[in-house]
Amino acid sequence: YTVYVPRDSTAIALGANQVAAAIIEQAEQRGIAVNLIRNGSRGMFWLEPLVEVVTAQGRIGYGPIEPEDVVGLFDADFLNGGKHALAIGLVDQIPYLQKQERLTFARVGITDPVSLDDYLAHEGYQGLQRALAMSPENVVQEVLDSGLRGRGGAAFPTGIKWKTVAHTPATQKYIVCNADEGDSGTFSDRMVMEDDPFMLIEGMTIAALAVGATQGYIYVRSEYPHAIAALNEAIAIANARHYLGENLLDSGTSFHLEVRKGAGSYVCGEETALLESLEGKRGIVRAKPPLPAIEGLFGKPTVINNVISLASVPIILARGAAFYKNYGIGRSYGTLPMQLAGNIKHGGLVEKAFGVTLRELLFDFGGGTASGRAIRAVQVGGPLGPYLPDSLFDTKIDYESFAAVGGTVGHGGIVVFDDSVDMAAQARYAMEFCAVESCGKCTPCRIGSTRGVEVIDKIVADQDKAPHIALLRDLCDTMINGSLCAMGNMTPLPVLSALDHFPEDFA
Ligand code: SF4
Repeated sequence: YTVYVPRDSTAIALGANQVAAAIIEQAEQRGIAVNLIRNGSRGMFWLEPLVEVVTAQGRIGYGPIEPEDVVGLFDADFLNGGKHALAIGLVDQIPYLQKQERLTFARVGITDPVSLDDYLAHEGYQGLQRALAMSPENVVQEVLDSGLRGRGGAAFPTGIKWKTVAHTPATQKYIVCNADEGDSGTFSDRMVMEDDPFMLIEGMTIAALAVGATQGYIYVRSEYPHAIAALNEAIAIANARHYLGENLLDSGTSFHLEVRKGAGSYVCGEETALLESLEGKRGIVRAKPPLPAIEGLFGKPTVINNVISLASVPIILARGAAFYKNYGIGRSYGTLPMQLAGNIKHGGLVEKAFGVTLRELLFDFGGGTASGRAIRAVQVGGPLGPYLPDSLFDTKIDYESFAAVGGTVGHGGIVVFDDSVDMAAQARYAMEFCAVESCGKCTPCRIGSTRGVEVIDKIVADQDKAPHIALLRDLCDTMINGSLCAMGNMTPLPVLSALDHFPEDFA
């Protein structure tokens, strides 16, 4: 019998390790041979820990399972797909999964994350094999043609970054993966690293071939110990099997890859602050130019991309740019792994082509709030994204449609609030977050955020609010136009959206 119990952090936090141990113990007691595989998560968090058994019909799921349920599962003959109150049928047929368009997440939850053979059996390394048969210029062109834009939030065309690095002469070039996923309600980077690490390694290796880099770093936030462990395990296997290192796959090219752990600063998710931190310095934003593509890590040309951007590359190379570009809408090509979080009934990972509406995600996938109350506000794109009211829920999720309503798709994190939320408190929180996380380099962000907290407190406390509101708007204008990076530029977005869409909360 083959049984799957996820090793993803979410499942572990909900007791997956204890469930796995209980299954092994029961199997031993009953003299049943069980092959227990620790897979990734399917991204349906309300069902975690989700136990799956392989049957002739397919993989049948049971969840959410607690260690105390395991004896009952054996009694119900779950190893043969037996009936049980927590049985959910064939996992692949769950609508939440069936309605998705999983390209990047195609293997996630299905395979053993640290089995290279499992990866190879599921289309793994086909992108690299194809890239090795192409010229570096054609690999860059393929990524350009796919229309892939940076999934970390800036949405800058990935192929243009690669082209710039490829065309900049240097004795040393670097590939850096930004895995500092610090936005509230986001976890798609973490899931890739924990649940399909070879995909990220393959994407970085293709990038290295394309631009002529021989060294890569994955900068992972310290809060992700399971991701760091999975990556290190996968990197060691890839090195041992010559998918990394000197003369990889007898191609004559080399690529060395290492993991670096961040130290818990939100602003180190900004690419130049990340590079400073990677160089061993304090994580402070660098002024641009020079662009990292020309003078990046240690002053050398550097490709710096987010996890999902790099993880999207293997399938683009394996299936071709046209296949990928066929998904999406307008100038937003491909798919986006979106993350439903906050007060939501069915939180988890939903990968869809650009063009799905926010409302579809919130209700068709998310099932409304966990509290059962009405959804009042949604924050898309992390703590610097605006709060969107119900009247904007029909906005399509693509870069241009969101920009048109003053929003940002960001990294695809969607945080839901019900009608008990206090939007003045949320606006204050945005300024407070900025005050705590500001790198301190420029005045509008460093000082403005602290003054912002004070002014919001005055708006709430004083009878005569108008002068304080005018001052807050003026301050936001200074921060938007006078700050060096997105931290100061965008903190006003949640503040102004709260003022504009939910003025009654400041009354
Ligand atoms: Fe640093 Fe804030 Fe200025 Fe960005 S906007 S450089 S985080 S002080």
